[in-house]
Amino acid sequence: MKIETIDLEFMNTGQVIASFLLMDKDGAFAALIETGPTTCLDRLTAGLKDHGVSHEDVRQVFLTHIHLDHAGASGHLAELLPNATFYVHEIGYPHLVAPSKLVKSATRIYGERMEELWGEAHPVPEDRIEILKDGEETKTAGGVLVAHETPGHAYHHLAYLEPGSGALFTGDVAGIRLPGQSYIRPPTPPPEIDVEAWVRSINYIRQIDPASLWPTHFGSYEDVGRHLGELEQRLQNWLLFVEGQIDDGAGREEISDQLKAKGDAEMLAEGANITQSEHYSLAGSYPMLTDGIMRYVSGRRERR
Ligand SMILES: [Zn+2]
Repeated sequence: MKIETIDLEFMNTGQVIASFLLMDKDGAFAALIETGPTTCLDRLTAGLKDHGVSHEDVRQVFLTHIHLDHAGASGHLAELLPNATFYVHEIGYPHLVAPSKLVKSATRIYGERMEELWGEAHPVPEDRIEILKDGEETKTAGGVLVAHETPGHAYHHLAYLEPGSGALFTGDVAGIRLPGQSYIRPPTPPPEIDVEAWVRSINYIRQIDPASLWPTHFGSYEDVGRHLGELEQRLQNWLLFVEGQIDDGAGREEISDQLKAKGDAEMLAEGANITQSEHYSLAGSYPMLTDGIMRYVSGRRERR
């Protein structure tokens, strides 16, 4: 199996959102992992063309979860790729068939920037979708993919292992990491993040023991143990930090500013610069990450 990364050049910026292209030896059977948002559709189809893959050759589209930066172009792609079946977690399924609830929820986060960032989400016909369960194996482009249920960033999150190479396509569960950097930013948007479930998923990934991690934001990394360790530590640390700020009576904006100051200092300490922080923010901005953690904290307190 050949694995290629298509850079979807989100908001005209390279290395923020990827779609991964799997091909068998002669390129006649191809599959995609992630569609990216509708605003990147032209880049995605250009990427297929660059690799000599026709629309008919794409038989499968595997989705890690249905957030618009990962699966937003699914409905449009169902129209463009006549032979493609879409694979998704069962909780994500209804949102592919009828994206209006998802779009409404995203509008609460992104407001008037919805169109500019994501474009329109079209429905995927029910008979084009298959539900995958934990551990389920699917034959694909000259090999197989194994779906692994990995909640935390979202309840309905799947990571996909390609056992031949040991590549694990991690969607958002292994965080945001940009090429050339060691720094991992945890993507913690509202409304579904669950830090306890996320840590269990990180441990599950350790058990799967992949040779490399392929986060949708962005690329592939082989220092698996260090990467997962840093992610777990930062998730726990940011949670405690935001909880402390809430207890001190800080408001949302103040907490977001404080988290940014803290996160940027951590990035600088790992050798990244402020331009790179902005680049990370295209995949997960501090106000959004703060909202997600604050919501998780208040939800947890209500349950106690
Ligand atoms: Zn994402």
